[in-house]
Amino acid sequence: MSILTGSPTYPEEQRVYAEAVRSKLLENGVLTPKACVITYGCQQNVSDSQRIKGMLSLMGYQMTEDREKADFIIFNTCAVREHAEDRVFGNVGATKNLKKENRGLIVAVCGCMAQQKTVAEKIKNSYPYVDILFGTQVTHRLPEFVYKRLSGGKRVFETELDNKDIIEDVPIDRENKIKGFIPIMYGCDNFCTYCIVPYVRGRERSRKADEILKEAKQMVAGGYKEIMLLGQNVNSYGKDNPDGINFAKLLRMINGIDGEFRIRFMTSHPKDCTEELLDAMRDCEKVENHLHLPFQSGSSRVLKAMNRRYTREKYLYLIKSARERMPDIAFTSDVIVGFPGETYEEFKETLSLIDEVKFASLFTFIYSPRGGTPAAAMPDPVSRKEKGVWFDELIKLQEKIQKEYDRGLVGKTFRVLFEETAPEEGCLIGKTDTIINISVKADERLLGTFADVIITEYDGTFKGKIINK
Ligand code: SF4
Repeated sequence: MSILTGSPTYPEEQRVYAEAVRSKLLENGVLTPKACVITYGCQQNVSDSQRIKGMLSLMGYQMTEDREKADFIIFNTCAVREHAEDRVFGNVGATKNLKKENRGLIVAVCGCMAQQKTVAEKIKNSYPYVDILFGTQVTHRLPEFVYKRLSGGKRVFETELDNKDIIEDVPIDRENKIKGFIPIMYGCDNFCTYCIVPYVRGRERSRKADEILKEAKQMVAGGYKEIMLLGQNVNSYGKDNPDGINFAKLLRMINGIDGEFRIRFMTSHPKDCTEELLDAMRDCEKVENHLHLPFQSGSSRVLKAMNRRYTREKYLYLIKSARERMPDIAFTSDVIVGFPGETYEEFKETLSLIDEVKFASLFTFIYSPRGGTPAAAMPDPVSRKEKGVWFDELIKLQEKIQKEYDRGLVGKTFRVLFEETAPEEGCLIGKTDTIINISVKADERLLGTFADVIITEYDGTFKGKIINK
């Protein structure tokens, strides 16, 4: 098998800038500089923030949660929901007063909001106390931006969006020592009509398989027990790589790493979910017995208007194919209620799909328009109030399904990973590979280990006991 090499590594130039930032801070009398990273939105952003923290550490900053103690505050923003943007502007606005108390404070805004022209203009013109703004494809240049600003240069605005290269080996600060993310691709080519992501994250770019494998091996060697592979559409991984390694093959390669650990992935797109992928999921014992497959609507007409490029029938076929291979697989999904032009009859098709699939859990959203997307310009005659009534109907159905599903798990045994302490004294939370959390009486020393646990009780939450380590 040929594996390509040759992605650019973290530029030496940025390390030099990071060193220069250290010296500059010392020169300015900031002996123990502190940085506060505020992250909004999805796991991709959380993963980006881990790299931002890695670069900040390289510059000599220590992390703090307390904005008032920080010498550097960075907002890593999300553009998916318009009303969430107001919250970001409010929080950025509040730094004006902090700057009065700490004249050396640097404020930066990055992420998907920063990538939008209108936002960048607004910040440039109305938020003069924001020192640095940068987009989603130049994050690795943070040391350079900080150095330029610290050296008395102009405010930095950098939103280039045609960078095809994926920069490898950016320093990373993963706080959690049990589970961690590996981004396998960036951007999205799908242009679902309600979504802003393709406009702010650029076209799909896959990391080279050998880089991903190297990172996965390092994590496993470092004691990580769960690896989450990240991308806007992981199922189309590798389409832009000439080495023929697609997502199914990548899963098999990571599964081949020695040791007991789990592989998760997020997010899958039904149009790119193949039989080859389902075969790989069945064959790879480290890949979770869970598939998050957003269906968004149960109506083929609405799916077409959303530009999802699959039908209700294709979606249900995928569910059936997956269940044939993995009878106990847990499905989770995303659904939008009240897409522009959706009728009640079409909404009922969503309800019937939910009833047929029986999802273990659902992420449900009432459609909210996102400026700059085609759906925001579509006629939308159904009122928000009416959509709220539909939404409640959906929630009621899902709650009933979920309760039955959850109750049916009592008495079953699962291999769990102890991930964190439980609210109950002397208990840990063990997660199954179908992403169910079970509270188990267990010593804290078992954190980060696996055990077989039988579910003994369900009263809204699961309780269980260890039967085998
Ligand atoms: S697949 Fe669709 S919903 Fe997902 S990020 Fe791409 S455009 Fe947005």
